[in-house]
Amino acid sequence: MEKKNIDWSNIGFGYVQTDLRYVSNYKNGAWDDGCLTEDATITMNECACVLQYAQTCFEGLKAYTTVDGRIVCFRPDLNASRMADSCRRMKMPVFPEDRFVDAVVQTVKANAAWVPPYGSGASLYLRPYMFGYDSIIGVKPANEFQFRIFATPVGPYFKGGVRPLTLRVSDYDRAAPRGTGHIKAGLNYAMSLYAIVDAHEQGYDENVYLDSATRTHIEETGGANIIFVTKDGKLVTPKSDTILPSITRRSLLQVAKDYLGMEVEEREVALSEISDFAECGLCGTAAVISPVGKIVDHGKEICFNIGESGMGDTVKKLYDTLTGIQMGKLTPPAGWVKVIE
Ligand SMILES: *Cc1c(COP(=O)(O)O)cnc(C)c1O
Repeated sequence: MEKKNIDWSNIGFGYVQTDLRYVSNYKNGAWDDGCLTEDATITMNECACVLQYAQTCFEGLKAYTTVDGRIVCFRPDLNASRMADSCRRMKMPVFPEDRFVDAVVQTVKANAAWVPPYGSGASLYLRPYMFGYDSIIGVKPANEFQFRIFATPVGPYFKGGVRPLTLRVSDYDRAAPRGTGHIKAGLNYAMSLYAIVDAHEQGYDENVYLDSATRTHIEETGGANIIFVTKDGKLVTPKSDTILPSITRRSLLQVAKDYLGMEVEEREVALSEISDFAECGLCGTAAVISPVGKIVDHGKEICFNIGESGMGDTVKKLYDTLTGIQMGKLTPPAGWVKVIE
């Protein structure tokens, strides 16, 4: 199969329209058979539920080429089950998890020419999402829904080398106790935009959010979970019901234990203790791990080891091991790598 003529190493993280996307419609209590379509536009009524009341959720995962030339995805079954959780919380119908994985496979196969080659650092980003589209004016869930997956090629995250991030402790909150912080809903992002723009204007890369009940514990950033490494080499990550359960973070915990023999702790992490940690990183599908060089808490700077490579030694080891598993250089745990073709 002929690849698209693209300078893979130099594409950024922006939407590029690809050939085919997957669509399935829910009506009268059932999902239809679903299909691939060339039509990248969606037409809906002005009163569509998603436009008025934001009844929508999404997922994000990547397809990429391994060292031996196979096209694969990483743990798409976990995206399927997380989207099912999001749908239940948003009163949307679950798209069956096996059909979700099948739709991912169909979308990647249909756009195989857009999957960047091994070694480019680029990948094909997949965006499954669902929304209520019939007309709703009184506040209630929609009756009709659409599930879609589109694909768009994205460039290497660390283009031009690793750059450690500077975060600030945000004065805004991300998620309320018993709210929606644990699901991947657009509404969590809509209300974070103000804080993101403000952080960028003040010269920070991202906001670190505290638990909104007590504002004493670290939760996560707007779009990535946070990990710390203690001075004696333990991996620590915050535990909270209002954190989005990152698949990358859950995978890293297992990699740390089973591949690197590290001790791991998932527990509450107080803001007051983070100056004791040696290393810090953000984890998510986009970068796997981005090293954090500094967290600024209202003028007080907390610095972390970033080594010579831009990543602390342990963060680098975790990064190399998980990306090695993803790229087919290390043997993955059973079920982690889904071969598409
Ligand atoms: C998607 C997301 C993450 C990262 O999850 P992955 O499954 O690792 O990509 C972390 N935090 C938030 C708020 C997210 O929306």
